[in-house]
Amino acid sequence: MKNKKLIIANWKMNPDSASEAVSLAKGTEKGISKSGNEIVIAPPFPFLAVVKKVIKHAKLGAQDDFWENKGARTGEVFPAMLKNSGVKYVIVGHSERRMLGETDEMINKKMKATLKAGLKPILCVGEHLETRKKGLAAAKNFVKTQLKNDLKGVPVGMIIAYEPIWAIGSGKPDKPEETVEMARFIKSIAGSKAKVLYGGSVTSKNAKSFLQYNEIDGALVGGASLKAEEFNKIVENTNK
Ligand code: PEP
Repeated sequence: MKNKKLIIANWKMNPDSASEAVSLAKGTEKGISKSGNEIVIAPPFPFLAVVKKVIKHAKLGAQDDFWENKGARTGEVFPAMLKNSGVKYVIVGHSERRMLGETDEMINKKMKATLKAGLKPILCVGEHLETRKKGLAAAKNFVKTQLKNDLKGVPVGMIIAYEPIWAIGSGKPDKPEETVEMARFIKSIAGSKAKVLYGGSVTSKNAKSFLQYNEIDGALVGGASLKAEEFNKIVENTNK
């Protein structure tokens, strides 16, 4: 595989403790040094600092941020705080956040604030099962609307994670050929310099079937990133 891939370990709301986060990060690091790919570990906020201390090759990611700087916003974290904590990438608009009421307007604000702080946003888009059942054209339409709204006033060439909602955590990944078609479509809207990652039940067994394509620039990995050995295999297989 010629081009360098971007692989994100999205730990979501895991693990339970800082010591477990440290051992998972150390285990994840073991598989990275020789891979030549860009690997990002996105732990929950409380573990950013301890993970930062033990990673050398991986970059630090956050799972979300907020668009305002300072102020009375209980529970929120603004991008400069993340930047000052060593974070380089921020996942924005994950479907699990959209499900909690995050709108395209909010996501657009987060994209702009993240960029302004000098961080790299990873914008997540993807359709629901009902939409995909109507076919790939319907899914493209859905994704197009998300991209148009989320990227309003944002420079071209962003990192976009295509994550069909029905494929996340379901054990039912997309068909790689259809992901390739979607990746081309996303680049036709977000610009040819955009990077398109695939996310949705990626494992060591299926990662290569997606990452072998030049159109797919990497993967966003949830469940399979919680076992260092499994995640290492994903990273290794990418280079074979
Ligand atoms: C995700 O976290 O966005 C994700 C794709 O999860 P999983 O790999 O578990 O499907």
